[in-house]
Amino acid sequence: MSRSSKLLDRAVKVIPGGVNSPVRAFKAVGGEPPFIARGEGTEIIDEEGHRYVDLVASWGALILGHADPLVLGAVTAAAARGSSFGAPTAGEVDFAEAICARIDSIDMVRLCSSGTEATMHAIRLARGHTGRDLIVKMTGCYHGAHDSVLVAAGSGAATFGTPTSPGIPAPISECTLLAPFNDAEAAAALFEKHGDRIAGIILEPIAGNMGCIPPQPGYLQALRDLCDKAGSVLIFDEVMCGLRVGPNGTAQDLYGITPDLTCLGKIIGGGFPLAAFGGKREIMSKLAPAGPIYQAGTLSGNPVAVAAGLATLSQLGSDEYARLEQIGAAVEAGLQDAVAYHGNVSFSRVGSMFTVFFRSSTPTNFDQVAECDMDEFGRFFQACLANGVYMPPSQYEATFLSPRLTDAQVAQIVEGLSAAIVAAEL
Ligand SMILES: *Cc1c(COP(=O)(O)O)cnc(C)c1O
Repeated sequence: MSRSSKLLDRAVKVIPGGVNSPVRAFKAVGGEPPFIARGEGTEIIDEEGHRYVDLVASWGALILGHADPLVLGAVTAAAARGSSFGAPTAGEVDFAEAICARIDSIDMVRLCSSGTEATMHAIRLARGHTGRDLIVKMTGCYHGAHDSVLVAAGSGAATFGTPTSPGIPAPISECTLLAPFNDAEAAAALFEKHGDRIAGIILEPIAGNMGCIPPQPGYLQALRDLCDKAGSVLIFDEVMCGLRVGPNGTAQDLYGITPDLTCLGKIIGGGFPLAAFGGKREIMSKLAPAGPIYQAGTLSGNPVAVAAGLATLSQLGSDEYARLEQIGAAVEAGLQDAVAYHGNVSFSRVGSMFTVFFRSSTPTNFDQVAECDMDEFGRFFQACLANGVYMPPSQYEATFLSPRLTDAQVAQIVEGLSAAIVAAEL
């Protein structure tokens, strides 16, 4: 029995399903998850000593790879000074200034500890600001695990066939109106009917939690127009794509659409629990204690997490974003032959986020992702693992590249994934 199997045996007795977040259990792809012993740069090593190129990267958070020396140095120094005070610190100011400087639409920002908190508080802020209850959410977009957004959600919720979780009171889910991703007309119809009651739209401007699906031309602008006309708040959930895509790191910059509020997480914490939401001064000023809309957190703006975030941001500039695009394009080009050979596979990518879909054309919304051949995906995933490439264990997830991947590793990824695509068909 492997060390990972033994650990899983112990885990399932004391942790529901043996994991602390559902997709980690590998239920959608079969087999047991390797327990990870350590990470070294862009690779992880499991309890058995198997080494993988890591294309999960803590679900995109570790864009610089594991145990980056500068992040490590900043974190150890911060922890030695004291890990939490529940009082303001200089690092939070530096960090907020860095975020406001990088993202034009963000005049003010509030720090919290998870993407779930960021979207929960952004939605409350939109509701409080407008005095309205309804929000529009896109089917298959994932915004964390709180009640208002666990309605037709992607990621683990979709992987486990419970896109709308039991336990959410009907009066809450009834305040969440649904439209398919990339369907501006469906969103317009909701505004036609309920416009004066809609507090805002929340969406991933690049969907990543139903696999990677880019917005179609004009879609984000149409949503911007709907919000402007109805006086609703446009919230971009850039927890996954923020600081990852385009020449400057954000989807809003890449597509030239300005949201009212932006949610950030994952990358900004450099692997530590740090997330944020920010935007227009007029709206953000309504947050307590400046205004009446309540939001709080014991560990919010945690000094260790902020130090990791600052050390990460300081290493993400135009060179890194150019390298990410270069690697992404190389992987896409390298997989072309295998994709064409298989016939029932398509490839979707924005910069350093991509998904291999087991469907003949790239999906543009959640229903089309659901048509993918999940058995083939499972075989593809297992073959990748056997080829030393650690991929997300679900068709409803994106794959993440790092600017630190070497050319040799990019070649290994292309070879490993190509062979796995071919092997999936058997
Ligand atoms: C991961 C993710 C979240 C949730 O973040 P947590 O830190 O897991 O709570 C929210 N929105 C998007 C787009 C995400 O990818």
